[in-house]
Amino acid sequence: MSLSEIFQKNQLTLSCEFFPPRTEKGEQSLYRHVESLMHCDPDFMTCTYGAGGSTRDKTLEIVSNIKRQFKIPVASHLTVVDSTIEELTDYLQRATDLEVDYIVALRGDPPQGTDSFVPTNGGLGYANELVDLIQQKYPHFGVVVAGYPEVHRESPSLEDDLMNLKRKVDAGADAIITQLFYHNDDFFRFCDRCRKIGIEVPIIPGLLPVVSLKQIQRIAGLCGARLPQPFIDRLSERDDPEWQFEVGVEQAVAQTESLLEHGVAGLHFYVLNRSDATNSILQAVDIASARAS
Ligand SMILES: Cc1cc2nc3c(=O)[nH]c(=O)nc-3n(C[C@H](O)[C@H](O)[C@H](O)COP(=O)(O)OP(=O)(O)OC[C@H]3O[C@@H](n4cnc5c(N)ncnc54)[C@H](O)[C@@H]3O)c2cc1C
Repeated sequence: MSLSEIFQKNQLTLSCEFFPPRTEKGEQSLYRHVESLMHCDPDFMTCTYGAGGSTRDKTLEIVSNIKRQFKIPVASHLTVVDSTIEELTDYLQRATDLEVDYIVALRGDPPQGTDSFVPTNGGLGYANELVDLIQQKYPHFGVVVAGYPEVHRESPSLEDDLMNLKRKVDAGADAIITQLFYHNDDFFRFCDRCRKIGIEVPIIPGLLPVVSLKQIQRIAGLCGARLPQPFIDRLSERDDPEWQFEVGVEQAVAQTESLLEHGVAGLHFYVLNRSDATNSILQAVDIASARAS
């Protein structure tokens, strides 16, 4: 089913994101976690590409294994970092051969230790150019692009960032998945601003359930997400992994319930290869009923 059909058919889509593990043990564990989410009937699963220096070659292998094993549509993330157009085209051809359904088209972050992104010789500069390339050469792919409720950290202004997002959508993106955020008001404002400038595709909130204070401070520091102070205070009360997991799930349940009340088009969970928190949240919000209504 095409990506736009999935969004038309479902009032509320559900998708989960994994990353390529470095070891065989990690990969086997990933498939177990995918399996444990299948009872929620997700619409598609995605796997990151080169994020945080992770291995790129594994992405296609992981998504095609998930598709084969669980009979579910899959999306490969793809960035333009360190790739010529020829290499990107080759990747898209391999994804086509493996029957990957969708591409999450991204520019990618500058390499670790550098502040600014420098396009590769013979490569692309921005994600909208990758969307263009996909539309020109591989239009059968459904395309998702990234959106930033708190504004992308390199963008000179909110307006510039929104115009960039519009360029990506005008180039042919079918949906937007947002960067993780913890203040729903930022997301609602972002959606309003997108609609005002004519972005009409579904905007799916990206949710990262917090499982430890240390982990979320590191991740939020990297992507610039603001954490609510009362939430940090609560997490800091005890240096106990179980307590922090419970507090994280509690916060994510409240955040998800509020998103559902506002009629979001879908939910995208950054699962980080551990389904426990996502499963607890989906159970607590009674996702099956939410999707049936
Ligand atoms: C859902 C999601 C999934 C992700 N998955 C991955 C992944 O798998 N691997 C990975 O490495 N990273 C991933 N990222 C992180 C992403 O690569 C970074 O946030 C990156 O810094 C920007 O990527 P982008 O596609 O949003 O870039 P772009 O949309 O190209 O924007 C990058 C910056 O350039 C600006 N810009 C764009 N076009 C122009 C222009 N013409 N002139 C001037 N400025 C411009 C934008 O405003 C923005 O500040 C993901 C992010 C999200 C939200």
